[in-house]
Amino acid sequence: MGGLLAARVLADSYDTVTVVERDVLPDGPEPRRGVPQGRQPHLLLARAAQILEELFPGFLDELVADGGLVWDDGDLSKFWVSFAGHRLVRDRLPDPASVVNYYGSRPFLEGHVRRRLRGLANVSVLDGHDVAGLTATADRRRVTGVRVVGHDDGNETTLTADLVVDATGRGSRTPVFLEQLGYGRPREDELVVRVAYASQPLRLPHDTLQENLVAVCPEPDRPSIFAAFACENDTWLVAVGTMAGIEPPATWPELLDYAAGFAPAHVLAAVRDAETIGGVNQHRLPSNRWRRYDKMAATPDGLLVVGDAICSFNPIYGQGMTVAAIEAGVLRDCLRSGERDLPRRFFSASAKKIRVAWQTAVGSDLTLPQVAGPRPLSMRITNAWTERVLTASETDAAVAQQFLRVVGMLDEPSALLRPGFVLRVLKAGRRAVAEQPEDSVAVSQTWL
Ligand SMILES: Cc1cc2nc3c(=O)[nH]c(=O)nc-3n(C[C@H](O)[C@H](O)[C@H](O)COP(=O)(O)OP(=O)(O)OC[C@H]3O[C@@H](n4cnc5c(N)ncnc54)[C@H](O)[C@@H]3O)c2cc1C
Repeated sequence: MGGLLAARVLADSYDTVTVVERDVLPDGPEPRRGVPQGRQPHLLLARAAQILEELFPGFLDELVADGGLVWDDGDLSKFWVSFAGHRLVRDRLPDPASVVNYYGSRPFLEGHVRRRLRGLANVSVLDGHDVAGLTATADRRRVTGVRVVGHDDGNETTLTADLVVDATGRGSRTPVFLEQLGYGRPREDELVVRVAYASQPLRLPHDTLQENLVAVCPEPDRPSIFAAFACENDTWLVAVGTMAGIEPPATWPELLDYAAGFAPAHVLAAVRDAETIGGVNQHRLPSNRWRRYDKMAATPDGLLVVGDAICSFNPIYGQGMTVAAIEAGVLRDCLRSGERDLPRRFFSASAKKIRVAWQTAVGSDLTLPQVAGPRPLSMRITNAWTERVLTASETDAAVAQQFLRVVGMLDEPSALLRPGFVLRVLKAGRRAVAEQPEDSVAVSQTWL
């Protein structure tokens, strides 16, 4: 996704753009080897949907026309979501247009982006080819292209380019290449979380469940998530995600058993007898990891890095594709000022956007006692305030709406600190305290 969206932006500034992809790409929305995480639920945050529509006008209508789902009526009863033990109110958002979500599987979303990209006259796709390395000028100041190897014949060729964008995902080899060129490797910020997903694709007739999206997020005494996402054309993905190295379920009966302790009973009852499509797919991810190209003393001209190749997050917050989309916007803005000093400007501007998502992921992960890492005072204060916001969002749809706008990356987290909003949260909190049993336990979650 990072590469496709970067290519879309590059097509406005360069005569030709070539997307090099190691997989032989399917025509339709099928899972593929190069994106193993594509079999897991992928939530497209509201901000990503907006950006996709900007980049490809009409894109969102196409998703819906082809069987994707849209949540645009603000009806929170279609949205069974609990953050850190706080269940969002089942009311209606005061302004339904303020948060609109689109649902589909990752292959479905990616397939649609690819189709639109292939429609651009100056973009070509070289699939079935591995990027084996980069080429550079003799003085090593500029990257001049990539060496690619065809899977069919093993032949190596060189593609020259004014700009190379590495979008090869978490396994990117740019750090090795930079070290070979004498630039050193980027510093890596990392928080080990040892996440594991197990998901089961299903067919579930439309309207079996009132909800389109069910997400029961981790709590301090339960570092696991349950998710049930409606996808395109009456398909669903039901998943359990575990953290802190807990072994995920391996079969559908095991998954149902695991979820029985904390998933909504009516959802489990509805999916239990649904038609399964294949078996359970697992995926593991060791850590949140941010490669700090923005902190390097220098990088060569003609080389950028985007998407998971810069920063990959604990996926339970659903940020990866949105951050990749935001980076495409940063790239477009940077290119408007020309190519001069492009890597430094891009890495620095994208780091500011990445930081917001990073703090959300890392701050939330560190609310769990099972995750080891420093918890500075600022983070603890933020967590305490988020806890108040979440308490208020159990009863107040306006608070829930603002919270969802922040989670959907439509608003900066600072929106949760605006005076009018703070007042509303405090008022709702007072009401909730008056109604709460005395032995209720407070837990905290960070979204700031
Ligand atoms: C379990 C899980 C669940 C997730 N859930 C969500 C979610 O709900 N919402 C969300 O927004 N994000 C989610 N993500 C994150 C999301 O998948 C990524 O952030 C997003 O795909 C952007 O990644 P990318 O495009 O940079 O890399 P990738 O999607 O990993 O794509 C990399 C591409 O590069 C190709 N490639 C790799 N090496 C080479 C090479 N040498 N030569 C040629 N081609 C190569 C691969 O074949 C692939 O096509 C999830 C991730 C995981 C692991």
